[in-house]
Amino acid sequence: MPKPIKNLNKLPPYLFTELDRKVDAARAKGVDVIHLGVGDPDLPTPEPIVEEMRRAISDPTTHNYSSYMGTGEYRAAASDWMKSRFGVEVDPATEVLTLIGSKEGLAHMIMAYIDEGDVVLYPSPSYPVYRNYTLLCGGDPVSMPLTVDNDFLPDLGAIPAETAARAKLMFLNYPNNPTGAIAPESFIRDAIEFCQKHDILLCHDNAYSEMTFDGYRAPSFLSVPGAKDVCVEFFSTSKMYNMTGWRIGFAAGNAAGIKALGTVKDNTDSSAFKAIQRAAAVGYKRSDELTSGLNDIYGKRQKIFVEGLNALGWNFHPPAATFYLWVPVPAGIKSEDFAALLLEKCGIIVPPGSAYGPEGEGFFRIALTTNEKRLREALKRMEQEKIRFDMLSSEAVAA
Ligand SMILES: *Cc1c(COP(=O)(O)O)cnc(C)c1O
Repeated sequence: MPKPIKNLNKLPPYLFTELDRKVDAARAKGVDVIHLGVGDPDLPTPEPIVEEMRRAISDPTTHNYSSYMGTGEYRAAASDWMKSRFGVEVDPATEVLTLIGSKEGLAHMIMAYIDEGDVVLYPSPSYPVYRNYTLLCGGDPVSMPLTVDNDFLPDLGAIPAETAARAKLMFLNYPNNPTGAIAPESFIRDAIEFCQKHDILLCHDNAYSEMTFDGYRAPSFLSVPGAKDVCVEFFSTSKMYNMTGWRIGFAAGNAAGIKALGTVKDNTDSSAFKAIQRAAAVGYKRSDELTSGLNDIYGKRQKIFVEGLNALGWNFHPPAATFYLWVPVPAGIKSEDFAALLLEKCGIIVPPGSAYGPEGEGFFRIALTTNEKRLREALKRMEQEKIRFDMLSSEAVAA
């Protein structure tokens, strides 16, 4: 057999494939695993979308190829939603592109822009694709640390001028996975100004724009004046409408960025199934109605889990967005060891923070993608096993 490309060896094992392996091993031993690992909604896709899918799949005109950029109907629905939700105007003909999930678009954007040695600025901790796909393309990923001290917003002033000069792309993601952080408008303006100054395409991953609590509404980066000169934003139905398996999203913004991404895609995937585009368009048309009930559910789960953690010695404040909790591990324990301890003692699976980059050390991530009863059960097991924030590292030896 010939050898795959050298850059493939640069990639760490994909985080969630590893977690799946651990879950399978624990289940094989008969453990009743509580999965707080992957950000995959446990609730079904809303009925109006499923109903439209049933109709669409029975219509033979959906069975052939979509136009390459996606159907006009879907791109118009996405554009209308951008206007009504964020006050942002994007031309469905040149500034909107259907994606087969936003992950696909993020990866292909890197392929469209990154030559050997080009710098990609990406946040750490973060969704692994920004860094890993850069490595795959032979680029040079440079991390921007997100820390408690900087409210999980990168310090743009700390990026060396010579690094900024070599950078072609910057990835940002607010509301943020894994930290739950949100970006104030002043930061968004600074990021756009930075990218204008250094001729960088700002790729904003807005997968959690609709998953917010207590009256907070996340903005589109494109709503900042001048943003469209330097920014492409990525949206996904996956978390918004519980559609992770459907694989449908869109990119919107700078026309040159959309065109470059579209050219990679024309030669790769021939766009998404037309029936799925038709069904997802119903989501955008009825978005607020479909997402508000979901946010009530996630908000309740968040409250239960945060109260539970705080009863176990944490002093944790719930984030304004996302279904994640980015929780500090007890002092002196490495995040990987703490995750192993939760699995061994409590049958709870969580990713260690270090899996999201070196700056993730000292944290673990909870995904609130299981029901209230199971969340309470997880907390009960932690209490029984004396897993507390003030536990001693000597108590943390996994069985
Ligand atoms: C889930 C997730 C995605 C991927 O979404 P898909 O549309 O399902 O590909 C992208 N970015 C972040 C930050 C995510 O958490």
